[in-house]
Amino acid sequence: MPASSPFAVVGHAAVRNWLSHAIASGRLAGSYLFLGPPGVGKRKLAVEFAAALRCKSPLHGWACGGCNECTRVAAGVHPNVRQFAKPEDARDLPVELVRDICEQASLTRLEPGQRVFIIDDADRFNESSANAFLKTLEEPPPQLTFVLLAGNAAQMLPTIISRCQTVRFSPLSAAELNQITRDWPALAEVDGRELLLRAAQGSAGKLERLLDSGALELAQNFIGSLKADPFKASEQLASALAKGLPADAAAELSRERLRDVLGIVAGLMRDQLTAGRDFAGTAPLLEKPSREPAGVDVLMNSLHRIEDLRERVDGNANLKLVCDALALALPG
Ligand SMILES: [Zn+2]
Repeated sequence: MPASSPFAVVGHAAVRNWLSHAIASGRLAGSYLFLGPPGVGKRKLAVEFAAALRCKSPLHGWACGGCNECTRVAAGVHPNVRQFAKPEDARDLPVELVRDICEQASLTRLEPGQRVFIIDDADRFNESSANAFLKTLEEPPPQLTFVLLAGNAAQMLPTIISRCQTVRFSPLSAAELNQITRDWPALAEVDGRELLLRAAQGSAGKLERLLDSGALELAQNFIGSLKADPFKASEQLASALAKGLPADAAAELSRERLRDVLGIVAGLMRDQLTAGRDFAGTAPLLEKPSREPAGVDVLMNSLHRIEDLRERVDGNANLKLVCDALALALPG
C-alpha cells in the first residue's frame, strides 16, 4: 500500500496478501465472510479489497489507491461498490433490507466489471432475513462478490457461514494500535493511556468507545474510593453509570459502560499480577497501601470473579448488584 493510500488500513498483512493472491490467480470465491472482533478494520479492508477488484493499475495485485476506480471506491461513491448495515435502531438485519439487497444484486449493472456488496452486521441475520438471502448468497450473479462482516460466528446461522469463504481477522497488535492512535488528541491527554490501550484489546473501535464513554474515569474514581468505603464506592459507580446518557438508550449504554469499567479494572489487576506488585499499591490510581499486599492467589481469585461479573453484565444482571459484587470482589 503506498504511503498516500486513501484506504488507511493498518495491519492485517496476511489477509491482504491472501486476498491479493486470490485476485491474481483468478480464484475468487463468490462470497467472503470477514470474521473478527469489532473495530479492527474489517470494513476498511473490505473497501480496499473492493478497490483491488476494480483497480486499473494494481500494484502487486492490490489496489493502487490512486486511479479513478480506487479513488471513487475509497470515497464511497462508486456505483458498483455498495455497503449495507443494520439500521441503528433495529436488533436484526430486517428482511426488507435483505430483499432490497437481493433485488439490487439482480439489477443490470450501472458500470461494467466487478461489483462488490459489503454487508455489515452479518451476525444479525434473523431466520426470515437469512432465508430471503440464501439463494442469492449461494449463487451470486456473475461478477458480484459479497463481503459479509461479522464479529461473532457463534451468533451466526450455519447456513450463512457455510456459503462463504471465511477470512479471519485478529486483534491489532500493540504497535498497530499505537500507529492508528498516534494522532488522537483525546488519547494523548488522557491520564491512564496505557491502561486504555490494553483495555481496548487490539480494537481501535473499542478504544474510541472507551475514550468517549468516560469508563476510565469511572474506574479510577471507583478504585480511588474503594479502600475507604466499598459500599459507597459501589453506590457512586452505580449512580454514575447512566450520567449524561440519552434517556432512550441509557439502559443499554450504562451496561456497556459497566462492561468497560470491568475491563479496565481487570486490566489493572493483570498489570499488578505481571508486575508482581500488590493491587492496593496500584500507582498512580491509589494511595500508598495501608494493608498487607494482596497475594497472587487473591488477585487471581478477584480476576475470576470479575470475569463472572462480565458474563452477568452480558446477561441481564441488575447493574447495581454487579457494582456491589465488584466492590466485594477486589482485594482491599
Ligand atoms: Zn487503483
